[in-house]
Amino acid sequence: MTETARGNLFILSAPSGAGKSSLIKALLDKHNDVKVSVSHTTRNPRPGENNAEHYHFINVEQFKSLIEKNDFFEWAQVFENYYGTSKAAIEQQLAAGIDVFLDIDWQGAQQVRKLMPEVKTIFILPPSKTELEQRLNNRGQDSQEVIASRMAQAKSESSHYSEFDYVLINDDFAATLKQLEHIVIAARLELKAQNIRYQSLISDLLK
Ligand code: 5GP
Repeated sequence: MTETARGNLFILSAPSGAGKSSLIKALLDKHNDVKVSVSHTTRNPRPGENNAEHYHFINVEQFKSLIEKNDFFEWAQVFENYYGTSKAAIEQQLAAGIDVFLDIDWQGAQQVRKLMPEVKTIFILPPSKTELEQRLNNRGQDSQEVIASRMAQAKSESSHYSEFDYVLINDDFAATLKQLEHIVIAARLELKAQNIRYQSLISDLLK
């Protein structure tokens, strides 16, 4: 019989257009014991985005009241909007042995590292600047002005890559997804978790 070990917390950060959302989606589709935390944001929904699925879309007043109530695990201003991870979104899942991914920016990552030093942090880089520009254009959801400002933001976001434990270059999607899965699986095999899961086996073997 095995015990349930606490789930691992991961942070996935990347410049806009590096493929982070698609990677998380593919990871979740393949592994039902991995979940992504749904953040709160004050930005407007993009076409196809649903409330409570992609984000909890709230206004600035509501966001500030959540800050005051100390409901956020971390929060930051990204571009011109506020984004935050609620404590409720992660703690219950981790306790139930579910691995939780936070799709957050470098500012949020810095806060979480301080609160939970065991967090595993992953940074995704695009294979080239040209490819990144193409990906941002192909989305067709944002204006040229927004794309230009996101290219500038991409450079500033990418400058924080060296604060992360793992760096993946998303050239071949399937290969990058595999690398991401390897990180998740390796984390589950760490001593602390295996000691909990296989407590009775280990004590029996060492009798
Ligand atoms: P987007 O508006 O394109 O969905 O996200 C913009 C940026 O905000 C991305 O880098 C995304 O990772 C980041 N972000 C989304 N949710 C959160 C959050 O809860 N906290 C922080 N710190 N950043 C977030």
